[in-house]
Amino acid sequence: MENLGGGRSIAMARVVVVFDFDKTLIDCDSDNWVVEKLGVNDTFTELLPTLPWNSLMDRMMMELHSREKTIQDIAECLKQVPLHPKITKAIKSAHASGCDLRIVSDANTIFIETILKHYGLMDCFSEITTNPCYVDAEGRLRILQYHEFKSSSHGCTICPPNMCKGLVMERMRASVSAQGKNRFIYVGDGSPDFCAAMKLEQGDIVMPRKNFPLWELIYGNKNLIKANIQEWSDGEELGTRLLDSINTILNEEKCCSVEPGPLVPVYCKFQTASSISAHDAHTINVLPVRR
Ligand SMILES: [Mg+2]
Ligand SMILES: [Zn+2]
Repeated sequence: MENLGGGRSIAMARVVVVFDFDKTLIDCDSDNWVVEKLGVNDTFTELLPTLPWNSLMDRMMMELHSREKTIQDIAECLKQVPLHPKITKAIKSAHASGCDLRIVSDANTIFIETILKHYGLMDCFSEITTNPCYVDAEGRLRILQYHEFKSSSHGCTICPPNMCKGLVMERMRASVSAQGKNRFIYVGDGSPDFCAAMKLEQGDIVMPRKNFPLWELIYGNKNLIKANIQEWSDGEELGTRLLDSINTILNEEKCCSVEPGPLVPVYCKFQTASSISAHDAHTINVLPVRR
């Protein structure tokens, strides 16, 4: 299924689609991409055991600055990050149909916004929750933490100290429910995405990337997940499956809705959303690892 049909609908506006960014919306990790392409991989690997990931990325920006790499160099590097055309198309289609699209990511505002603007997707998202950053007086990019973890911990053992995605999801659900938005689709790949997925309710859909940590955690701890599961492997498949998932919710909303007004064309597909039938589920411990 390629399209969600034309026109906005009342029911569609109730759907919130939340994307992780690295290895989900984009195929690679934007932090790794910059570190590798701008040649500070050795320093990164050397310091990785000594610093939390997010603090290390701030340190890497200092390293790049000391090697006379400018903000423009970093931006040009980020514009080379590939984004699958099927994902671009699905995002634009979902946005045009009235879905509320958001990003929750442990990258940072500048990396994410540079890539989204490059692909003309910035206006499709209503909110980007990530680590704040700014360019200081010397022209160095400073990356801060979403949660200031030096003063207090968020208390979650799955997520890194600077951002608990479960907490973000709880706050998001509370803030959008007043607008009548109560159906969530969450797309991700990493361990912190599992923390977010545990906050999903029955009727929501979680879309884990196959064979990545989120997928493994879900199938090892299925009792902790209330949402329907729709796996995907690559950008091509995500583009298609995302629109399928939105249509699944829209179909259900259409059946239950008493609101008048035109609905976008939908496709009758009331099959089970879980496409995995024979995964050998085994217990996987929830470990505090990055992504
Ligand atoms: Mg990710
Ligand atoms: Zn968490």
